[in-house]
Amino acid sequence: MTGPGRAPGQPRDPFAALPPDAAELAARWAEAAFAPAVDEGLRAIHRDMAEATAALAPVCDASGRCCRFGEWGHLLYVTGLEAAWTLRAAARTPTAEDVRAAALRDDCPFLEAGRCGVHAFRPVGCRAYFCDPRAAGWQEELSERMLARLRALHEEHAVPYRYGEWRTMLAHFVA
Ligand code: SF4
Repeated sequence: MTGPGRAPGQPRDPFAALPPDAAELAARWAEAAFAPAVDEGLRAIHRDMAEATAALAPVCDASGRCCRFGEWGHLLYVTGLEAAWTLRAAARTPTAEDVRAAALRDDCPFLEAGRCGVHAFRPVGCRAYFCDPRAAGWQEELSERMLARLRALHEEHAVPYRYGEWRTMLAHFVA
């Protein structure tokens, strides 16, 4: 996650920000996300994050505020490979209408009744963000360290690296 978010009343169309090669990129990321070594690399990052955060014991009251970006003034950024992996592992692909609606609400298309509909497969940014004020001292460092590993995973497997806003990255796959 990162902030600040957009000012209220500034919805934007995630599809308007797509690059000309969006479909080609999405195909590369989706193909790579099926590779066993990539799958294991992502799962190892998630395991290490779970261990690190468990040791730090931040409080999560499942308020869903980390997923209501506009309301809480932050944005979620992900890599293309992460987005592809979440969709594949969760066997969930939102429709274009889902993505547009989430952008208008300024929340996540996977937020369902206050809960994450893809919890086991959520991106690194979701795993690093806690609204517990005590997490302010370590979550940025943890996020940066794991983002460096994500970038290295892309490079190791010759996967095109892009890091973008969540709804826009999802739009690559449903355009
Ligand atoms: S993927 Fe899940 S945890 Fe992350 S913003 Fe969406 S609903 Fe929230």
